[in-house]
Amino acid sequence: MSFALPTLLGAWWNGWVGALGGFLIGGVAKVVVLQHCTFLINSACHTIGRQPYSTKCSARDSFLMAVFTFGEGYHNYHHEFQHDYRNGVKPWQWDPTKWLIWTLSKLGLVNSLRRVPSEAIRSTQARVRDLQSKESRISLVKATITSPAVQ
Ligand SMILES: [Zn+2]
Repeated sequence: MSFALPTLLGAWWNGWVGALGGFLIGGVAKVVVLQHCTFLINSACHTIGRQPYSTKCSARDSFLMAVFTFGEGYHNYHHEFQHDYRNGVKPWQWDPTKWLIWTLSKLGLVNSLRRVPSEAIRSTQARVRDLQSKESRISLVKATITSPAVQ
């Protein structure tokens, strides 16, 4: 369907040349762009941003990436709490997918939305903050020990 429809529309518009254009641009190019965007998201969301919920993997939270990915940019949360339907867990975080799923649940089209309790999220954030603070102090001590002595 994703190849046939643009090809048929192209044929209807401009004969066999239109069919070829519809197939290449509306079919093949669309799939290529979609695949590259998907892979870019998974690559960039493991490179750009902060790690407020977990440092076990390279996943990161980024508002910028969330804008381009309809909320998937809050990837660090997604990796730590994979069963939660939300990615941007804070009310102000840009996550249209979360809002769509929530709206569908209010319309009765989706049910049993799974959420991580707020207390579990807060305690995880506090644990990661402590860990990052300790790692920061250790790095500072190592830098001090290995730096050449001032004479
Ligand atoms: Zn990931």
